[in-house]
Amino acid sequence: MIDILAVFAHPDDLELSVGGTMLKLKSFGHKTGALEITRGEMGTRGTVEGRAIEAEAAAKILMLDLRENLGLPDGHVFADDDSRRELVRAFRRLKPKVVFTHQTGDSHPDHEHIAQMVRECTRLAAMKNYDFETGEEKIAPPIVGHTVFSRLVSPTFVVDVTEFHQRKMDALRAHASQFFDPNSTAPETMLTGKRFLDDVASRSRYFGTLIGVEYGEPFYVREALNVDDPFALLTRPMNLYS
Ligand SMILES: [Zn+2]
Repeated sequence: MIDILAVFAHPDDLELSVGGTMLKLKSFGHKTGALEITRGEMGTRGTVEGRAIEAEAAAKILMLDLRENLGLPDGHVFADDDSRRELVRAFRRLKPKVVFTHQTGDSHPDHEHIAQMVRECTRLAAMKNYDFETGEEKIAPPIVGHTVFSRLVSPTFVVDVTEFHQRKMDALRAHASQFFDPNSTAPETMLTGKRFLDDVASRSRYFGTLIGVEYGEPFYVREALNVDDPFALLTRPMNLYS
C-alpha cells in the first residue's frame, strides 16, 4: 500500500515536477511511490536500460518506497480500454490515497493522455463491477493532484519545498543521459541545454515567491477542498503582492 503515488509518463517527469513534494511527504512518514507509464524508449538520448538504472538511482535519492513501470509504448499512450485496465489494476494493487500526475492540456501527447487516463482510472478503480474478473477489490477513489508545468493554470496550492530543493535537484541530475553534458555527442533536446536545470530551479523559485518561501511546487485539484480551520490555512505565509 502506498499513500501517495506519482503517475507520470517518463522516468524523469516526477523529478521535474513533484520531486520536492515527494521528499517532503516522505519526511512526514508517508509511503511514497512512482508509477511510470512508459520506459522512455522514444527519448532522443539514453537507452531503455540506462534510463532504468538512472531512475533507480533517482528513486533512492527521493527515498521512494516503490518505483514501477507499466511498460506502455512511449509516444503511443492513449486512454484506451486495455491501457485503462492496466492502470486500474495498478491502483487497486497499490491503493494510493493521493495520486499526482501531469496537467491536462500538456503539450506532450503522452502527458496529456495520462492526465486524462489517471482521472478516469481513479474513478473506474472505485467501481465494484469494473474488471471484476481479476478478483481485485474496488478502492476508495484517490484524489488527483495535477502538477502545473507547461500551461498557465492558477495553482490550488503550492508546497513549500525549500528544505528539499537541493535533494530534488540531485535526483534530477541522476538522470544524467537526459540533461546537459558538455562531453556528450548525442543530439541536443529541449532538456539538454546548459540552462535547463537552472530553469527548473527558477520555476520552483517563482512558485516559492507566491507563498513567501524560497522554493515551491504548484498543484491544482478540480475538487473543492475540505478545510477544517480556514483561519489556520489563510494565515500561513503568502505573498499578497504576487
Ligand atoms: Zn515526459
